[in-house]
Amino acid sequence: MGRRYGPYGGAYVPETLVPALAELERTWHEARRDPGFRKEHARLRRTFAGRPTPLHLARRLTQRAGGAEIWLKREDLVHGGAHKLNNALGQGLLAARMGKPRLIAETGAGQHGVATAIVGAALGLSVEVYMGEVDIARQRPNVERMRLLGARVVPVRSGRRTLKEAINAALRDWIANVRTTHYLLGSAVGPHPFPEIVAELQSVIGREIRTESRAAFGRLPDLAVACVGGGSNAIGTFRPLLRSSTELLGVEAAGPRGGGHGAATLSRGRPGILHGAYSYVLQDADGQVEETESISAGLDYAGVGPEHAFLKDSGRVRYTAVHDDGALAAFRWLAEDEGILPALEPAHAIYAAVGEARRRPARQKVVVTLSGRGDKDLEVVLGASRPRA
Ligand SMILES: *Cc1c(COP(=O)(O)O)cnc(C)c1O
Repeated sequence: MGRRYGPYGGAYVPETLVPALAELERTWHEARRDPGFRKEHARLRRTFAGRPTPLHLARRLTQRAGGAEIWLKREDLVHGGAHKLNNALGQGLLAARMGKPRLIAETGAGQHGVATAIVGAALGLSVEVYMGEVDIARQRPNVERMRLLGARVVPVRSGRRTLKEAINAALRDWIANVRTTHYLLGSAVGPHPFPEIVAELQSVIGREIRTESRAAFGRLPDLAVACVGGGSNAIGTFRPLLRSSTELLGVEAAGPRGGGHGAATLSRGRPGILHGAYSYVLQDADGQVEETESISAGLDYAGVGPEHAFLKDSGRVRYTAVHDDGALAAFRWLAEDEGILPALEPAHAIYAAVGEARRRPARQKVVVTLSGRGDKDLEVVLGASRPRA
């Protein structure tokens, strides 16, 4: 059943996918040991993706919090505007190595679809992106971006016509076309070996944080904070710090104040199987997957990566949830104090980080992963009434 994180993870998939998952795992292990692959991956990370990204001291936000120093890990500066390219680039190279000329992907807000389309164009692979009809209507600019990058966007008309159905459609396509096609999964979720591969590809974030915090303030941070949707930017931040004494905090979306469950899977879900893995799932008493709601499309998912489920149970990582209004407030703080428009996903993490910094002495260092930039969210932010800061 594949690798486990405690009881979590595994590969609950139809028989037809088992050889493809085994091939992917084999290719991954071979590629990691191949100096030629490593060199090409490193080159593209540097000159195409724009890594390493800086660790930036947020001076005025630190003053606002009035406690520990707040540092931003600038994944918003990665090509495409978010950490998603770290994963898409690595998996695109694996697909090319397997000789698969076609990439498929699922997307909700369109960010992962855009990252996949970027990689397909750069590596000469064809790309088809499954997207719910509702999401296509509300994420027009990203749909246009994908098309300009040469990808085909496939509308999904079943169910609620959003991300969950898009994932199911992509899985069906993969089952039918597995010999020619790589399913480029967008977060640290799904059947083994995806959570492991995505976590390792995103761990470049945490490795750079280690190096950069030693250079900037002579040691590792006291606390690292990241937002959790499927959990890829968070696990990439946390993994290289797991064996240190740095405290780790994952921040989920609590959704609208006074609303339902939001999308706080770890805070309010319970263990179950979704999209090929055993992890926490937001589900009702009968095990039906619940509808989620969040102001940030990238956190709006009823599942979460299995390693986070394990890290929560073990107590090594703390998880909390921030409401929509907190994320909107943090968006404005970062814009007005620092000159940075953050994506609404990491705005949840910024809000929690400011609260943590406020309770800590000035000598402490808090690092927040700023997973993406906010250009995609301007309409949502302008549509919301101005919150009091
Ligand atoms: C997609 C997205 C997320 C959520 O995905 P994770 O896999 O949890 O990292 C967070 N931030 C941004 C900017 C995103 O685009």
